Amino acid sequence: MSEPVSSEPVSRTTDTPLVVIDRVGKSFGRVEVLKDVSLTVAAGDVLSLIGPSGSGKTTLLRCVNYLESYERGLITIAGESVGVDIRPDGSRRRKADREIAALRAQVGMVFQHYNLFPHLDVLENLTVAPRRVRNEADAPVRERAMALLERVGLADKRNRYPSELSGGQQQRVAIARALTMQPRLLLLDEVTSALDPELVGEVLDVILSLAGDGITMMIVTHEMAFAREVSTSVAFMADGVLIEKGPPGAIFDAPRHERLCSFMQRYR
Ligand code: ADP
Repeated sequence: MSEPVSSEPVSRTTDTPLVVIDRVGKSFGRVEVLKDVSLTVAAGDVLSLIGPSGSGKTTLLRCVNYLESYERGLITIAGESVGVDIRPDGSRRRKADREIAALRAQVGMVFQHYNLFPHLDVLENLTVAPRRVRNEADAPVRERAMALLERVGLADKRNRYPSELSGGQQQRVAIARALTMQPRLLLLDEVTSALDPELVGEVLDVILSLAGDGITMMIVTHEMAFAREVSTSVAFMADGVLIEKGPPGAIFDAPRHERLCSFMQRYR
């Protein structure tokens, strides 16, 4: 059978978004927490997910690296389907564990609670995964880790243990640790929510500088001023539905949907 003739230029493939979330649905038991969610994230974009508590933001983020499974629709990263293959007849097959692990190695994630390894010092926290998961040689991994610690302003803490650091410092280590695997995509899930207010700024500053370097990110946050500043696009979710998505100026200054308008009023 001959290929259909396409008038699209060949270079179009380079415009393919890094992340494609296509009509994704998920339930916990009988509760449908993601309903037909579709969005895309291009390489270099910073997408913030905002919305009321319980609207499905964290669940969606966790589906992107398959920490949560999803039953409907498909997520792809760089064209590779996440967690499942869809057979020609439409049925779904969970991928092998090693394929899922390979995907996760390309997607860094930082959580609300920093989850550093308490028995390892800061530098070892960064080097353990590249060495153990990827069998990388010691010297280049240490060099990369030190450069990242410089980036987050913590090179002088390399031999400290997590318990000797403030919450903000621990979270900056967690961000640097996620980056040592050189992920294509960084997922940040409410990374400042557990911090004392005076420590929030230093973590947000690190994320802003990473965004300036073109690191692709998906961010769940309640920090609206930060979302506005850091994002190339903002998606508002409510009750498992993606209600509105657009550039920060449109979402914050000219919200269209009534749910988004009333959500925004609480932040003014
Ligand atoms: P958000 O991040 O917007 O606050 P979540 O994604 O955390 O929302 O939660 C969406 C919905 O899914 C909520 O109703 C929550 O109670 C439910 N939920 C989240 N995780 C689980 C789980 N592991 N088991 C059952 N229900 C869950």
